[in-house]
Amino acid sequence: MEFDRDLFVIGAGSGGVRAARIAATHGAKVSVAEDYRVGGTCVIRGCVPKKLMVYAARFADDFADAKGFGWSVGATSHDWAALIAAKDREIARLEGIYAANLDRAGVEILRTRARLDGPHRVRLADGRVLTARHVLIATGGTPVRDAGFPGSELAATSEEVFGWTRRPERLVVVGGAYVALEFASLFAGLGTKVTVLYRGEEILRGFDGEVRRHLHAALVARGLDVVTGDLPTRLERTPTGLKLETRGGRVIETDEVLLAVGRRPATRDLGVETVDLALAADGSIPVTGAAATNLPWLHAVGDVTGRAALTPVAIRDGHAFADEVFGGIPREVSHELIPTAVFTTPEVGTVGVGEEELRTAGTAHLVFRSTFRPMRATLAGRDERTLMKILVGEADDRVLGVHVVGPDAAEMIQLVAVALRMGAKKADFDRTMALHPSAAEELVTMRQPSDRWRP
Ligand code: NDP
Repeated sequence: MEFDRDLFVIGAGSGGVRAARIAATHGAKVSVAEDYRVGGTCVIRGCVPKKLMVYAARFADDFADAKGFGWSVGATSHDWAALIAAKDREIARLEGIYAANLDRAGVEILRTRARLDGPHRVRLADGRVLTARHVLIATGGTPVRDAGFPGSELAATSEEVFGWTRRPERLVVVGGAYVALEFASLFAGLGTKVTVLYRGEEILRGFDGEVRRHLHAALVARGLDVVTGDLPTRLERTPTGLKLETRGGRVIETDEVLLAVGRRPATRDLGVETVDLALAADGSIPVTGAAATNLPWLHAVGDVTGRAALTPVAIRDGHAFADEVFGGIPREVSHELIPTAVFTTPEVGTVGVGEEELRTAGTAHLVFRSTFRPMRATLAGRDERTLMKILVGEADDRVLGVHVVGPDAAEMIQLVAVALRMGAKKADFDRTMALHPSAAEELVTMRQPSDRWRP
């Protein structure tokens, strides 16, 4: 059978762009369709702009701490519109680079919506139908907009926040995971009065319990109101803003409500019913290996697959898919030991398992723990403490999990992840010379376990 293209990619986000570019460098004729902006969630309205806003928020600490080091900073104020404009310029620059890289690799970018239209066929918004030997779905995900209470349409999601023309003075964030806590923390840093409303017992479900409690306390100490075990029941507009009522009987007057209650795989209106593709219950596309679906010509990478919704995972899988299918290079991508960070202030960095997971698995382990005041905090007069935890298998001395809550946690955990991938034992950490003075040196100087757990 003759096809118009070797590869048609639906979605120009992190995974789709990488796959398209690598496939083209292997000589494939590739088109990628995107109905929004090239770069996807991460670049346009996710990780990248969020991190820029986190940097903006953290200057508040710098100004406050500077005094202890002899500086007089004077009056400070923040111009939200200037931040958004600067962020928009940077995102436009990055989008340009992504598009230029595709162009240079010979990938055709179709700025339109595309959907499946039977095996090997893709229909564009203008009705044109193209055929491709392989189709890759890399449509990502979209924020959940309906949290099941009246008035939830008055709330924003992460997608709108990046375009807000004014910073709210009061903000309620619904949810207790990455998106909720990162925005809650950065808005608080910029001066917004923030309430986090989380339905569970403790924020950051799935993380090590001590990390969750430590971060919760740190956010409260920074002035955030963190409410657990409660849910919104109604949201309505008032003459002065919004009024949120909760199941627990709270009535909160606020300027904005941010719904950060998860994301859905973007498989709606994708034409999956035109092919024999089996979706999972949550609407995601199950894959094996890098990107294989139950159809040999159809592939999927990134958030749409329901795998860890993280950019590096999409990029790795997209690259591996292109290498395998178009370069004949077998690739194995491991989804184990994925390091992750929550860019709150203080930030969380984690790799491997937490204590609760080890207990559930019945794994005897030692807990090495250190809490300390970072050096900078001394002169700054700040009492926020850093938490570091190393979890070690008792049977074989293997390091099974490392957790940091404190400045630069993400930077540290990326490198710790290399050691864990190599199968590092606690003895390897111990024989590594400390780098002094640093916070990270604590990771190689903890000698006495604080706890031991046996099934
Ligand atoms: P998550 O799915 O991780 O968390 C959703 C949160 O909303 C949870 O706290 C959940 O509670 C709560 N929730 C879900 N449904 C409701 C509801 N109906 N009413 C009230 N609360 C509800 O979603 P996020 O949007 O935070 O993040 C999506 C993904 O994006 C993450 O899994 C992560 O992979 C990725 N991401 C990564 C970042 C990073 O690496 N720094 C940053 C941002 C996103 P419960 O715990 O009880 O289920």
